[in-house]
Amino acid sequence: MGEKNGAVRTGGISVETQHIFPIIKKWLYSNKEIFLRELVSNACDAVTKLKRLISLGHVRDIDDKFRIDVTLDKDARTIAVSDNGIGMTAEELDKYICQIALSGALDFISKYEGKEGKDGENASGIIGHFGLGFYSAFMVADTVEIITKSYTDAPAVRWECSSEGEYKVFPSDRTERGTTVILHITEEESEFLSEFKLRDILDKYCAFMPVEIYFTDESKKEESKDKKDDEDKEKEPPKPINDTHPLWLKNPSECTEEEYKEFYRKVFRDFREPLFYIHINADYPLNFRGIIFIPRIRTEYENLEGQIKLFYNQVFVADNIKEVIPEYMLMLRGVIDCPDLPLNVSRSYLQNDAYVKKISSHIVKKVADKLNSLYNTEREKYESLWNDIKVFVQYACIRDTKFLERVKGCLLLPLTDDTYKSISEYLEGAKEKHPNTVYYATNKIDQAQYISLYNAEGISVALFDKVLDTSYIQTLEGEKWDDCDIKFVRVDADVAKALTGDGEEYKSEVLEKLFKKVSGSENLTVKFEILKSDVPAIINLSEQSRRFSDMMKFYSMSSGEKFDGLDEDITLVLNSASPVVRKLGERADDAGESFSEELEAAAKRIYMLALMAQRRLTPDELRDFLADSYRQLEKSLS
Ligand code: ADP
Repeated sequence: MGEKNGAVRTGGISVETQHIFPIIKKWLYSNKEIFLRELVSNACDAVTKLKRLISLGHVRDIDDKFRIDVTLDKDARTIAVSDNGIGMTAEELDKYICQIALSGALDFISKYEGKEGKDGENASGIIGHFGLGFYSAFMVADTVEIITKSYTDAPAVRWECSSEGEYKVFPSDRTERGTTVILHITEEESEFLSEFKLRDILDKYCAFMPVEIYFTDESKKEESKDKKDDEDKEKEPPKPINDTHPLWLKNPSECTEEEYKEFYRKVFRDFREPLFYIHINADYPLNFRGIIFIPRIRTEYENLEGQIKLFYNQVFVADNIKEVIPEYMLMLRGVIDCPDLPLNVSRSYLQNDAYVKKISSHIVKKVADKLNSLYNTEREKYESLWNDIKVFVQYACIRDTKFLERVKGCLLLPLTDDTYKSISEYLEGAKEKHPNTVYYATNKIDQAQYISLYNAEGISVALFDKVLDTSYIQTLEGEKWDDCDIKFVRVDADVAKALTGDGEEYKSEVLEKLFKKVSGSENLTVKFEILKSDVPAIINLSEQSRRFSDMMKFYSMSSGEKFDGLDEDITLVLNSASPVVRKLGERADDAGESFSEELEAAAKRIYMLALMAQRRLTPDELRDFLADSYRQLEKSLS
């Protein structure tokens, strides 16, 4: 190695490695911005290392304020990352940068080379998430300089490397301890020579790093020098761009409600308050910290995509790492800091990693614990939140029976009278009249008549009016409650025992024929029951076939296909105790099978009224009904 250009030493990144730079450039295009995270976190490490030496008593007389400076110089086309950490001697620089870091980068690349597209992930994505260190600088720079002075007496050195892999080492007259990495940005990557862009990247990746980071735009400095009135401003201490003590590292007992809300607003840029939060402080063997927020979701269709930000020792790694949190909880927002996570591996490895699975189930458990504790200690607040959290809770129950098991005791049923009961409380109250059966309505207004029949007998009716409810009900029915099966029955699906009373049995085959005739439906079943209420007739559907038809409607809606409905299993229940039914029966019996127009009109009207109490009439039905009603009115007046 000769003394070229005054360099003390020159070298070439060795033969087998010479293709590394083109690969770094070409390959990582999708996530170039991480170069800044890598360099700033190296700077943080350098400070941390020095702090440790100080705390061990190996180094004395250092009372600096530790800091990192990121400086943009548009004119010189450079970005510099500077720290006052441990620094490097010439030997260390050779060892760490030219040998270890390089072989690390090579290892990394050879591991993932050619794996693009596998498992639905691409290699650049992996590197984007899990970093390849110092050499990522070459994604955006054609020349990189390192000027460094070790904390020891060793002289400072300057290292310069081109994107062809040629490096030179020079002596340097730097006197202050620490390292400055200067990137000479390539023509193609000029977009990084922007204050806005750099601030944005720093905000994304470095917002919680443990050493204060300051950003300076040199061109702004020049401008402000020209302005006299800025003299006062100069005295104002600049603010670091990061928060070196993020909330998640604090002891939950020392954090205030306002701090959590502020943190949530800042990190997730959501001005709606979160519903509640969970501060996780998992010690051995898991060792991770985090804060999970349950965001306010307005409708079941609102963007359910949450955001879990994964940190590695305060360094942002990635958003929504699906492996760390189960898919059904992805609507949550939060931060998780896992210093033990083996990040330098592929995502498919993460998926199968036992440690990651443990983290995931710990989070799920914490969420369930929180729901239970709210239920037990803040019932009123819990009820007021239910409407907002139920979509999330129900979805989680459907997807994970373990979660369901955990929250079983605190699942609430919203009732049609706007109060809440837990499922257990409901079943307890149902013991005598309708054991293990939950009666529910899907529409408070349309089904008001049925609801009042049940309410009159002291039976509460639950309200399930969301699309997700159908699957949720089915999930709950698959569970044992106090060793019993539980059944959900819509109010119009069954004439509950509790609604029927004693009295004289009454049946009329002729009446049955009459109603079949006027309904125009061959499939109509006519049944007689002694109802406690005095309504002449109600319509009942089969719970199972109605659910099936609901499901078909839902799927055809989402697939865009037209669904005309199935022939529903309709039963007309005639109230044997109703005087109207009795009178009509007597007349029908007298008439034999030749029903008069008047008789048919009366039966039709009873049928239509029963139908109207059950569902909205179709336009044709409504038109007929109105025409018939007016005709009869006219008759009665003439
Ligand atoms: P990693 O940080 O994962 O070890 P890098 O390629 O980023 O890998 O860096 C390689 C090594 O170079 C570091 O481990 C460290 O010893 C050294 N190094 C990098 N940046 C600095 C710096 N700013 N100050 C001191 N040493 C540094």
